[in-house]
Amino acid sequence: MSIETDVAIIGGGIVGLATGYQLACLHPEKKIVVLEKEGHLAEHQTGRNSGVIHSGIYYKPGSLKAVNCREGRKALIDFCRQEGIAHEICGKVIVAVDERELPALERIYERGQANGVTCAMIDKEQLHELEPHAAGIRAIHVPDAGIVDYKGVCAKLADHIRGAGGTVLTRARVTGIRADGDRTRLVSTAGEVSARLVVNCTGLFADRVTALGGLAPPAKIVPFRGEYYELVPAAEQFCRNLIYPVPNPDFPFLGVHFTRMALGGVECGPNAVLAFAREGYHLTDVNLRDLAESLTYPGFLRLAARNWRMGLGELWRSISKRAFVKALQRLIPEIRVEHLHSAPAGVRAQALAPDGSLVDDFEIVESERIVNVLNAPSPAATASLNIGRLIVERLAKHF
Ligand SMILES: Cc1cc2nc3c(=O)[nH]c(=O)nc-3n(C[C@H](O)[C@H](O)[C@H](O)COP(=O)(O)OP(=O)(O)OC[C@H]3O[C@@H](n4cnc5c(N)ncnc54)[C@H](O)[C@@H]3O)c2cc1C
Repeated sequence: MSIETDVAIIGGGIVGLATGYQLACLHPEKKIVVLEKEGHLAEHQTGRNSGVIHSGIYYKPGSLKAVNCREGRKALIDFCRQEGIAHEICGKVIVAVDERELPALERIYERGQANGVTCAMIDKEQLHELEPHAAGIRAIHVPDAGIVDYKGVCAKLADHIRGAGGTVLTRARVTGIRADGDRTRLVSTAGEVSARLVVNCTGLFADRVTALGGLAPPAKIVPFRGEYYELVPAAEQFCRNLIYPVPNPDFPFLGVHFTRMALGGVECGPNAVLAFAREGYHLTDVNLRDLAESLTYPGFLRLAARNWRMGLGELWRSISKRAFVKALQRLIPEIRVEHLHSAPAGVRAQALAPDGSLVDDFEIVESERIVNVLNAPSPAATASLNIGRLIVERLAKHF
């Protein structure tokens, strides 16, 4: 099989599909093909995340994360309303449990103000009214945060792409990218696709696919698994909505939290453990190529040298349910081991620079005919519709 198209999008997660959707809305005359290696869409980060619509409170003012989260959040909520997708703007609390966390809590509040997020600093009594079982001496209440069914969003985005005449191919793993005159030829397990322009939205493989397209990626993807537990029904009463800790400012991860899910249930997590495979959803999943690439990368060695203590702590929380529960008990002291059962894990695609710094902001790198989304960690699901619009603006320069 060989298909000719204007734009080929590699990756059927939320960023690829949102890009296809925006392209279909803004340039309906363009032919679109999405290639996804799995049998279903949104099988990796998008379908295994916390399901939170982030408010934009955490991010550096003016950053791509801050701007796209605020704009993308609005677009996502409108899309969910229009399409009847399960979602709720239920609000969340970020809780300081001791005095040492107050300065960091204050800094998050200031960022929220700078980013135009509706938020309020609340005391212990106000926290108790919102979340009666949460411990904490002070908290930020963020009414703008919410929950959503991201797989449901992806299904509707794909429907729109198909409805506009586009093609969404599954079981189509791209294995080669070759320049072919003024076009680009993608070799895939579902046949060849010849495209004028290509967008790479391959999440955990974004760096490898960038290299496949002929561009040396400025950072490497290192996979960090996020493990979850779910509350048994009898314990769901402990959490009304979303309860978050004050995050460690040195890391882009938010710390284990309680999340009510849009389709029911309450999840607890995720932690952040180095995964031994890019799609390593279990501690015992090992891919030698992936692991060797992480462990021999100078950026990883620098990161590990600086943060080995924290890394071991996370690994211990991965092995020991009791240690995980202890972290959760800081937020809700009534939680017991028997209140939790294991839930599916996710793996974050986190770009790591050669100097050992975790790339904090979204990063898009372009060659002449290929736009590569190299780093799209949280809140990229919330921000996806705006990231998609941004990518389409870049493509449009070449139309
Ligand atoms: C544990 C966890 C919790 C998170 N919580 C939240 C949250 O609550 N809110 C939020 O906004 N964000 C959250 N995020 C972040 C969010 O899920 C991601 O930023 C977002 O899903 C990224 O989407 P994506 O399309 O770039 O990647 P993905 O969803 O990973 O999609 C990439 C796709 O590319 C495909 N692919 C890869 N290689 C190829 C190839 N060679 N050929 C064809 N297809 C290929 C993959 O199979 C995959 O389907 C979380 C992430 C994780 C892991």
